[in-house]
Amino acid sequence: MAGDNRIVKVHSGAAFAALKDTKDQHGKYQSVITLAALMEIGRYRGKSGIAERAKKCRRGPEKISEDWDDESIRDCLVGMFHSGTLDGPYSAAVLLIGVSSTYTAGMAPDTDLLTPLRRYWGYSSFRPLQERVVRSLLAGHDTCVVMPTGGGKSLCYQLPAVVSGRTAVVISPLIALMQDQAAQLAQMGIPAAVLNSSVSDEQQARVMREARDGAYRLLYLSPERLARGDTLGWLRHVPVGFFAIDEAHCISEWGHEFRPEYRQLNRLRTRFPERPIAAFTASATRHVRHDILAQLQLRDPDKYIASFHRPNLRYLVRECEGWEQSALLVKALANYQGNVIVYAPTINRVEETVDFLEDQDIPAVAYHAKMQNADRRCNQERWMSDEVRVLVGTIAFGLGINKATVRAVIHLALPKSIEQYYQEAGRAGRDGLPSDCVLLWQKKDAGLLGFFANQILDAAERDRAWQRYHKIRAFVDTPHCRHIQICQHFGETPKWDSCGACDVCASVPEWLSAPAQPVAPRFTLGKVVAGVGKAVATASGAGGVSFADADAELREYLREWRRTMAREQGVAAFVVLHDTTLEEICRVRPASIAALLEITGIGERKAEMYGEEILGALQRYREGARASAQVEKKTAPAEETLRLLAEGKSFEEIAKIRGRQLATVVNAVAGLVERGQLEFQPAWIDRNRQAVIEAACAKLGTERLKTLKDALPPEITYDEIRLVVARVRREERCKATIPA
Ligand SMILES: [Zn+2]
Repeated sequence: MAGDNRIVKVHSGAAFAALKDTKDQHGKYQSVITLAALMEIGRYRGKSGIAERAKKCRRGPEKISEDWDDESIRDCLVGMFHSGTLDGPYSAAVLLIGVSSTYTAGMAPDTDLLTPLRRYWGYSSFRPLQERVVRSLLAGHDTCVVMPTGGGKSLCYQLPAVVSGRTAVVISPLIALMQDQAAQLAQMGIPAAVLNSSVSDEQQARVMREARDGAYRLLYLSPERLARGDTLGWLRHVPVGFFAIDEAHCISEWGHEFRPEYRQLNRLRTRFPERPIAAFTASATRHVRHDILAQLQLRDPDKYIASFHRPNLRYLVRECEGWEQSALLVKALANYQGNVIVYAPTINRVEETVDFLEDQDIPAVAYHAKMQNADRRCNQERWMSDEVRVLVGTIAFGLGINKATVRAVIHLALPKSIEQYYQEAGRAGRDGLPSDCVLLWQKKDAGLLGFFANQILDAAERDRAWQRYHKIRAFVDTPHCRHIQICQHFGETPKWDSCGACDVCASVPEWLSAPAQPVAPRFTLGKVVAGVGKAVATASGAGGVSFADADAELREYLREWRRTMAREQGVAAFVVLHDTTLEEICRVRPASIAALLEITGIGERKAEMYGEEILGALQRYREGARASAQVEKKTAPAEETLRLLAEGKSFEEIAKIRGRQLATVVNAVAGLVERGQLEFQPAWIDRNRQAVIEAACAKLGTERLKTLKDALPPEITYDEIRLVVARVRREERCKATIPA
């Protein structure tokens, strides 16, 4: 910009942001801002604090009157440029004219998008549909985008926000996602902020003040926050470019994640009639799409629907018994080398699965809604940074998770709907490499889903739940291509008959087809079976470079560097560098900043922040540095529980120490009793209650806990029943094995 006198006509919010951008390291403005421009900004923003700011700035031509229209100001400034009146001490002079109209017409259709894409994101090209969506938004059109998880949805609203210089207000229900996105944007040099319940009052006040000054390109709000009485009034003072509604399917009762507070979003159209609204969703059937358009009152929106076909995913569905499921899980985990997500239906199942896997010497971390925030964050972080390969979570996990290299998503129960399944399973293989979606379900899951559907009081909602149930049952039961079934569910008609990559169209991998054996305690994992990954690659026809090709040692070394960086800054590892970027660095091994800038995902800001560090790490690696081994050997969960019991700890105390739910601990102890590894302690349960439960067992048997619970007085808990039943079952088993 040196020596270049320019008049840039932009919105006042952008003018102010740009003014801030031109500060040098001593805090001095490097541009000449006319007083007229500042007055304009002040007028638009209700003059809050701007007059003072204006006085501090270099004063411009005061002869321009406040009531001049934009064109007059512009003409006057052009004249002053030519006459030299505006020659400042700096070679660059940027004149920013705040436009007082609240809504400027769209940007030129030929706006250069590749430069900011390269500069901030470090990408050299768009993914399918992205550019068209960005241009729609820049042209000021309402827009509805249906794009599967991993299709690059967020860039569709982030890039136009950056280019337009105004503030895009993003509504999202996912607090973790908002925070991660804001952190990622900050690392790219794009100002962004979050307003939701997780932000302190003080911080909120600061964000609100700065948002009025147009300081942010992206502002993330929760729907609850938007629904608050004072929010809409405050938003009127923010230079809003457009509204982006993420997870827009939440607005529809037909969707699988209906959120009543989303219904309030219809106020956006009435309160901000001139601002474009863009709806984004990763999963919406035709019915839901229609609902989104109607509820948000979109005006002749540009509609973009990306294909739901993810050819690099292989769907494998198998109905099994409980013991078989555990055995298959262990076999599956032995087959996948990269990250795996295991979805369990309940919090207790999550904890039991983690304990079970640890008992099998497979390190795993838990993730569910009842954990302490810090623990949950820590577990997620350990998984994201590859410290632990397997994460077991409830459906609460994964929304907004941005990890490209998940090699498999394994479900341990029937999901509630195809949408839910597609979204969760879709977290596999976002890097485009072959990945598996394994659904191991049990007959009793179907019974439970039906049971819950019947509990719904509202008749219409109950009907919808049953419809979802029938669809997911058809998906697992009918021998039709799983890919086609999913595409058809979302209203897409594939032109092919067979995908060649699901368990119906192609062969089932050996680990799944061979009969499963019950898992013995402390099963030691054999060597990882080689060749399976390759078979998948051929089956799905997906090409590309396998991660196994990159130097494993270098990758580990760079990951360690990334973990350190992330820890120092208090951000997630993927915020520092994406896995795909890290992999490319391993392959290319750039030797200069220029070469580093050629890596996908390294924009100017990233290169500035980490460039020297990365080159330094590569240099150290060449000189022989390696990742420090950091294997912490954990005791098996059962041993740990036994040790704590021996120390005289109560169940509650053990639950606290082990970071588990009480029910999980009781279940584990009951299991030990039942297997004869631990003596039942009379002190665990009040003697009278014990007698009552024993009597019920004698009468009703120990087959089903629910039968016993229903027959017993309500104050007797499941935990108590579970423990007594374990003792009774053990005694019965002993009797049965003693020869008469
Ligand atoms: Zn198929």
